[in-house]
Amino acid sequence: MEQDYHTHSTYSDGRFLFAMVRAASEAGLSGIGISDHCTVSEREPMRGQRNLLGFNLDVTYERRRGAIEGLRERVDIAVHDAVEMDYDPREEGAIADFLDQAGFDYAIGSVHHLEDTNVHVEPYFAEKPERERRALVDRYFEKVVSLVESELFAVAAHPDLIERTPALRGLASEEHYRRTAEAFVRSRTVPELNAGRVLDDYGSFHPSPVFLDALAEHGVRVTVGTDSHRPEEVAPRAERIDELLDERGIEPVELAV
Ligand SMILES: [Zn+2]
Ligand SMILES: [Zn+2]
Repeated sequence: MEQDYHTHSTYSDGRFLFAMVRAASEAGLSGIGISDHCTVSEREPMRGQRNLLGFNLDVTYERRRGAIEGLRERVDIAVHDAVEMDYDPREEGAIADFLDQAGFDYAIGSVHHLEDTNVHVEPYFAEKPERERRALVDRYFEKVVSLVESELFAVAAHPDLIERTPALRGLASEEHYRRTAEAFVRSRTVPELNAGRVLDDYGSFHPSPVFLDALAEHGVRVTVGTDSHRPEEVAPRAERIDELLDERGIEPVELAV
């Protein structure tokens, strides 16, 4: 891979900007996208969760932009001023307004929540009966399709994020993958090959191999992101992405930045 389009800095839940950029440079990449988390939801509990986590890019993006501009003069790789937006179909208007105003190099859209609960919160989902968990997985893919159809984003991050959560893992069907792939065919939004958990507990990429097959069958290409939050994650994850790209003969999409 040439560029890592998905990383985080201290402007959300990652490490210092300069350390992330240096790590990408040392990994031999020609570019890094700093895509900090951002939520513009005015609904509770989303507002409260955002405040608790300190995801303030909606108010600090200009400060971060100045820092990125300063860094660009001192490093030998491209640094992109990007964002990872929380997506919910009810907030399309607010997201569109914010993205228009902020003018990022590109925007990544993410479905992180079901019933306003982050899908990583295993106990919340584990106590539900299987029937409800299946309905939530249906809901998850409806939201991803809606994200893709919204045309708000250049990239749809980790389009099967629910697989990280043991209580929701394995409930996605080929029908979900087919419907999502069809939405990508009709959209400018590109799915992301995300290495955020490939070297951790989950041990797989997003999308899963079967989902990747479905995308390939539909002629849908992917972009790439390590989703690194710490500098030391960039190189090993980029290496794993390269291995998979080689294995599958994939040429990732280069974003227009
Ligand atoms: Zn994410
Ligand atoms: Zn991320």
